[in-house]
Amino acid sequence: ERLRLDGRVAYVTGGGQGIGRAFAHALGEAGAKVAVVDLVLAKAEAVACELSLKGIKSLALAADVSKPEDVQRMVDAIVARWGTVHIACNNAGINLNSASEETSLEEWDKTFNVNLRGLFLCCQAAGRIMLNQGYGKIINTASMASLIVPHPQKQLAYNASKAGVVKLTQTLGTEWIDRGVKVNCISPGIVDTPLIRSQELRPLVRRWLADIPAGRLAQPTDLQAAVVYLASEASDYMTGHNLVIEGGQSLW
Ligand code: NAD
Repeated sequence: ERLRLDGRVAYVTGGGQGIGRAFAHALGEAGAKVAVVDLVLAKAEAVACELSLKGIKSLALAADVSKPEDVQRMVDAIVARWGTVHIACNNAGINLNSASEETSLEEWDKTFNVNLRGLFLCCQAAGRIMLNQGYGKIINTASMASLIVPHPQKQLAYNASKAGVVKLTQTLGTEWIDRGVKVNCISPGIVDTPLIRSQELRPLVRRWLADIPAGRLAQPTDLQAAVVYLASEASDYMTGHNLVIEGGQSLW
């Protein structure tokens, strides 16, 4: 079965809730061992515990993906436990909401530090191991906001950072493919997660609903098969791809 991940070692950043949690479950159910990584250790532990209860081999790690020492520690811990990394899901991301003319430099830097610098650090640290072994699958979480400007606006730093994720994915995907490392990204539309239910974003949801041909938000489960596909040998001819899953929203 080309979609099975038995014997593979995976990690998911931002795995403590939302989309990352759904990714961790999906990869584990497909047979991979999964390191659940989150800024908040308790969240990572809770998800790792859910996986263990399903009989999935799991590990909980705390890391801030924007810090190089945390990222290296994360990769070292996974290698120490399971010997290597085959599947890297670089999913941690933040979304701060403010009018562009009021966006502070602090907000801008924070967004880019997690969403783009964090991705660079994770891709590089995991990528080095993968290039050495001549095999690896990197799946980055971008966003539909990399393609369109979901309205109402007020997501300048977020949108720009996610467009950067796509270009980073394309560049690494073409640079590393001849050494066995495939790099792709998933661009979800609006997914029903704690991020979306947060105070700042809640008022936007009703407006967004009107823009989705599918007539509903995505559930994290709507993304699970995609991550398994991109982590599996079934997608070996794909690299640098941006897999958009948004209920048609980017077409309206
Ligand atoms: P979420 O806020 O519900 O969960 C994100 C998790 O990442 C949290 O557990 C948080 O603790 C963790 N995290 C935050 N900063 C971190 C850091 N510096 N290092 C490590 N972990 C960190 O978010 P979500 O909705 O599940 O989104 C996950 C990813 O999907 C993000 O990259 C987001 O931009 C992207 N995305 C989300 C949506 C959506 O509608 N929810 C749409 C498109 C893209």
